[in-house]
Amino acid sequence: MSQPSGLSSIFSLRCPKCRIGSLFQNGKILRPGTLFTMHSACPICKQSFEPEPGFYFGAMFISYAINTALFIGSWVGLLLIYPDYTLSMLLGILTAVVILSLPLSFRWSRSIWLALFVRFDPGAGNTPHS
Ligand SMILES: [Zn+2]
Repeated sequence: MSQPSGLSSIFSLRCPKCRIGSLFQNGKILRPGTLFTMHSACPICKQSFEPEPGFYFGAMFISYAINTALFIGSWVGLLLIYPDYTLSMLLGILTAVVILSLPLSFRWSRSIWLALFVRFDPGAGNTPHS
């Protein structure tokens, strides 16, 4: 069995160690709280997803970077589609983008942050841990 690459495991929100187990519990769009619930450890290789208290504090900076990129992207998009935009249109679009992308930027920032600290272990997905 071949594991996905590092980058695709980050964006598909997989455990950085085995690249198989999912980081998040299956969220329901109608129950938004569940979109932010992580497993405490990998269901496959038992890698802890919260190595220390406050571990994800630094993920805020990644989330900030993702939001900045989204801001610039939506502003340029608006500029191209509708050059005569008004400030309130821009603010409305930015607010919508932030709210809609919140679950995604939250999950991706945590996935990227964890992948910075946990090394890939090619054997982790195959050997059963007791
Ligand atoms: Zn794992």
